[in-house]
Amino acid sequence: MNILLLGSGGREHALAWKMAASPLVDRLICAPGNAGIAHEAECVDLAIADHAAVTAYCRANRIDFVVVGPEAPLCAGIVDDLEAAGIKAFGPSRAAARLEGSKGFTKDLCRSAGIPTAAYERFRTAAAAIAYTRERGAPIVVKADGLAAGKGVVVAESMGEAEAAIEMILGGGVGAAGAELVIEEYLVGEEASFFALCDGETALPLASAQDHKRAFDGDKGPNTGGMGAYSPAPILDAALSARVMREIIRPTLRAMKAMGAPYKGVLYAGLMITAEGSKLIEYNVRFGDPECQVLMPRLMSDLVPALLASRDGLLKSVDLRWYPESALTVVMAAKGYPGPYGRGSVIEGLEQAAAVPGVEIFHAGTKQDGAHVVANGGRVLNVSALGRSVREAGARAYEAVTRIRWPEGFYRHDIGWRAIEREK
Ligand code: AMP
Repeated sequence: MNILLLGSGGREHALAWKMAASPLVDRLICAPGNAGIAHEAECVDLAIADHAAVTAYCRANRIDFVVVGPEAPLCAGIVDDLEAAGIKAFGPSRAAARLEGSKGFTKDLCRSAGIPTAAYERFRTAAAAIAYTRERGAPIVVKADGLAAGKGVVVAESMGEAEAAIEMILGGGVGAAGAELVIEEYLVGEEASFFALCDGETALPLASAQDHKRAFDGDKGPNTGGMGAYSPAPILDAALSARVMREIIRPTLRAMKAMGAPYKGVLYAGLMITAEGSKLIEYNVRFGDPECQVLMPRLMSDLVPALLASRDGLLKSVDLRWYPESALTVVMAAKGYPGPYGRGSVIEGLEQAAAVPGVEIFHAGTKQDGAHVVANGGRVLNVSALGRSVREAGARAYEAVTRIRWPEGFYRHDIGWRAIEREK
């Protein structure tokens, strides 16, 4: 079959790498892709926000199945538009993608379905929001309702910070995403991510992961899209995973189906493991980035039939196998990220790095410039490795990182520290 993958990040490189290994795939095309994806797929310059252009491309190129990587096209309804044109697509409908597109929607769903989550209220005016915040006290968490590319959440340590966040978000600081607010209780615990593949009715647990959001060592510095990850998350053992399926994932699927918006695609639950059990912090409606770069190397089974079964409502008969190894990925980012950074610097040593046993390099913001691979984004490379433990996977990934010659880049030196400490 012919598959079109949409996206251009490390997540999409990991998906392309995995799908390219499937005997079911005749042609794999990626729009727009990057320099690494070009080794796995034909890259085409297609504006993925233009749904009519994507549909026309699929018709002209006999695309059998479209796999959507990022959240923005999902929330904009690309799956609805493709399916309406008779093209099969993997991912949630626009109505189901509200689980990521509106934090207020998800909180209300949790409240009515009894899903454990932080106590909250929704607001449209600063006066009411500030009054609620004063009543609850700090620390408290202020969130823009809509998609804000990671910039819409402020964990406020003081009343002053909370009020500034309310004014910033409702005042247009994150654009239309901030027309409404969710203010919620501050949860204490360890964060972990849990992934399930869903077909509207059935949820198949994938694997767990933990990521590192802060830019610098010791979990310091500004929040980023993610500077590294590892899988499995040792804190999410079998018993806790079963509880997450029972208390969070399955009730969500039942509630979505009951409201006429059955959820299909990857459901990514951001969890806080508290003293009372796991609570839902947020949902994402796609694979995590960089979590996907540790899930794909651990997946033994063919990914393509599982994605098709999610779309076709046939997940009941799917059984995925995983390698017992752990995986870890180190993100290499352009100096300055998540603030302003330069583009166009040359990256060398990628082949030597990829020769380290167990290592796969997934590109994010890269571009081919003649004979050179050059940086073309904030997060630029993901150096992933498998190992018998998180410690071994980390040692391999860092060995590969040191072989990459890119003076304009930086990375964290402590990815996986929590898991490695647990392994001791
Ligand atoms: P979100 O985009 O909702 O996942 O929030 C981004 C980050 O903010 C999370 O990964 C947490 O580190 C933090 N966060 C969000 N909500 C809470 C909460 N209720 N309590 C504590 N930390 C939170």
